[in-house]
Amino acid sequence: MNKRDVYLDYAATTPTDERVVTAMLPFFTEIYGNPSSFHSVGLKAQQAVAEARKAIAHFLGAHEDEIIFTSGGTESDNLAVMGITQLKAHRDAIEAQSGQKIPHVITSAIEHHAVLEPLLALQKKGSIELTILPVDRYGQVDVVDFKQALRPQTLFVSIMSANNEIGTIQPIEEIGRALLRWRKSENTPYPLFHTDACQSAGYQPLSVEKMHVDLLTFNGSKLYGPKGIGVLFVRRGTRLLPQMLGGG
Ligand SMILES: *Cc1c(COP(=O)(O)O)cnc(C)c1O
Repeated sequence: MNKRDVYLDYAATTPTDERVVTAMLPFFTEIYGNPSSFHSVGLKAQQAVAEARKAIAHFLGAHEDEIIFTSGGTESDNLAVMGITQLKAHRDAIEAQSGQKIPHVITSAIEHHAVLEPLLALQKKGSIELTILPVDRYGQVDVVDFKQALRPQTLFVSIMSANNEIGTIQPIEEIGRALLRWRKSENTPYPLFHTDACQSAGYQPLSVEKMHVDLLTFNGSKLYGPKGIGVLFVRRGTRLLPQMLGGG
């Protein structure tokens, strides 16, 4: 970059921190094994994956077995949307509890396209009914509107933690608490709650317990990490339909 250039697009992506680059270097040339291999080169790689998983679980206040690595925010969001809404066991459970064949999903008008586009495609196909909540002049979802949108057939809720264009922070903890109360009063484990936290991870403390989320997306490229890596937190016991087969 020219010395006079000023980069002001950190919400789109950050530079990779030099400490991250240094930490990654051995994995290109020394610890290059396949973590699924049983020889020592593979075992070293497996150990590194386990350590990364542990660090990320700690960052989110989650368990290690709740962390799924993906190729980025887009894949994590798609996996959350498709993995929950397309799993037969969830769809059957919604039908059994509500008598409605088509499950209902709630999202907001200002979600990232990685959430909105798959949801709109599913709505178009007739696979889900979709409520897209409007936002106020600050870009915030109204929690009262949100509660009014809940139905007995609501399977999935996806509301982002912070917006990628205007930075608005959504009342995720409040929505999470409203969902806990709804589940208790309706005696159901649904709806499952996903938040896209790509824009929060570098700025706000994230606790999956405080937020009461079942799924959470974030990526490396927005918080000084490498490009091409993402995380989907999936709460223990939450079943997910894989979108890629044969990867283990
Ligand atoms: C950047 C971003 C994504 C997409 O992440 P990629 O890693 O670029 O695929 C999804 N959601 C939000 C809110 C983002 O800011």
